[in-house]
Amino acid sequence: MRYISDEVELFKRKVISSNEDIKCTICKNDDESIDHLFINCELAFSVWNGVYVWLQVMEPKPSSTIESSNLHYDIGRNSKGPKFWRMVWFVVMWSIWTMRNNLIFSTKEVSYIHIMELIRARTWS
Ligand SMILES: [Zn+2]
Repeated sequence: MRYISDEVELFKRKVISSNEDIKCTICKNDDESIDHLFINCELAFSVWNGVYVWLQVMEPKPSSTIESSNLHYDIGRNSKGPKFWRMVWFVVMWSIWTMRNNLIFSTKEVSYIHIMELIRARTWS
């Protein structure tokens, strides 16, 4: 996952300079690491919970993106199949990433309802 330039990584590379700049783009409560942005941020946490309720699976609580990816592999062995769950994982990750980028580059609002609509549409199309 190191190919994604979260704010913490940009700060390390000296692309951005101030500690203020590395706060999460979405919540501004914590540094924007990959694990924060995709797993522990309050929006990401709500989105993952929403996806699991929607797909009627037990609600796993991963603490990192690697753990989340592995969890989806394990879910896939028991139900709809690994390809489906891998797709869901990528769709959620992509949807969170594009919403974060929209917030930076086009000042669009972050909306739980909107991101869930996008995830449902992207998963079933
Ligand atoms: Zn956050």
